[in-house]
Amino acid sequence: MTVDVVKANDLKKSAPVFGQLSFDDHEQVVFCNDKDTGLKAIIGIHNTVLGPALGGTRMWNYENEWDALNDVLRLSRGMTFKSAITGLNLGGGKAVIIGDAKTQKTPELMRKFGEFVHSLSGKYITAEDVGMETSDMDLVREVTPYVTGISEDRGGAGNPSPITAYGVFMGMKAAAQYRFGSDHLEGKKVLVQGIGHVGESLVEHLTHEGAEIFISDINRDRLEAIRSRYGVSIYEDADVYSADVDIYAPCALGATINDDTLERLKAKIIAGAANNQLADEKRHGNILREKGIVYAPDFLINAGGIINVYAELEGYDKKEICRKTENIFNTTLEILKKAEANEISTHVAALQIAQQRIEDRKKLNLS
Ligand code: NAD
Repeated sequence: MTVDVVKANDLKKSAPVFGQLSFDDHEQVVFCNDKDTGLKAIIGIHNTVLGPALGGTRMWNYENEWDALNDVLRLSRGMTFKSAITGLNLGGGKAVIIGDAKTQKTPELMRKFGEFVHSLSGKYITAEDVGMETSDMDLVREVTPYVTGISEDRGGAGNPSPITAYGVFMGMKAAAQYRFGSDHLEGKKVLVQGIGHVGESLVEHLTHEGAEIFISDINRDRLEAIRSRYGVSIYEDADVYSADVDIYAPCALGATINDDTLERLKAKIIAGAANNQLADEKRHGNILREKGIVYAPDFLINAGGIINVYAELEGYDKKEICRKTENIFNTTLEILKKAEANEISTHVAALQIAQQRIEDRKKLNLS
């Protein structure tokens, strides 16, 4: 993932650090370094007004450390609004571990990371994200209680991805209801980009619904496996954005909606799991509106995972998790209508609701 915002050489020494990259009133950023295990991680705590900052840990082979910092700043901010709009008493945080999850992740490294999480005394609670498995969270749990998404046999809520996928499915159906007048996806052409943990579960829901599914991924083995498991089509053209589909579901990494791809997008709806889908929230949100593409805000419809891990903290049962996740349908529809009525992008409409909840709580805390 490259960051177009800034490169190391562009940094002006006179400019304030807090004004760089995607800093947006983040409360705390923690750099974690351990020579013995090779751990290099950054924990971003964006906002804790509503509660402790909860958000997953991503392990990724970033091109450079600035990209990693930028990513954690963007992701942690996104978590603040995700929890706020979902009605959870949680703040926004996220962590990134710099490195290749396939070759550089060791139990020692994960435990060391857990020690750093522990040093924050619960201000940040971690969970699984790209490059992480439930078993990694179990390793973190060995050194700190401030982790969610541990195995079910250890008392955790397990892998959050199926619930995330269910929420995305709900958001997609709401967008279809709004755009096509029916939430039935039967016969609708859907392109799922990224068929990892969430993408595969989404494909499963879409298969049951009778959608015409196309999949795309950088991992050829995975593509073949999903094709044979669900009987879906692999989208072979390298340019996925020009695909003549009804719905584009970004389920890989962020910023796939940008100046370059927007020119080519043919889909009528965008609804997927990836975080930070809009490279530039304001501008690209507005362009989508002008083009008449219905965008189901990422931080709203991919909240199933956080609902699932929140349940672990609050002791909710599966029924309550499902009910809360299903409600993503109603919230999405409400936001799409609010955006239309106020002539604003759907992203801004969702953001306004989330920000209002934080402001209200702040006032309550001060009174
Ligand atoms: P994952 O690592 O299991 O899957 C990601 C998939 O995307 C992999 O198959 C990978 O090969 C593929 N991919 C990577 N780059 C690609 C590219 N350029 N083009 C096509 N495919 C590419 O991750 P996941 O857990 O399924 O999460 C997917 C997205 O959803 C991430 O952005 C994540 O942050 C977000 N998300 C996940 C959860 C969750 O519960 N897992 C919750 C909220 C948001």
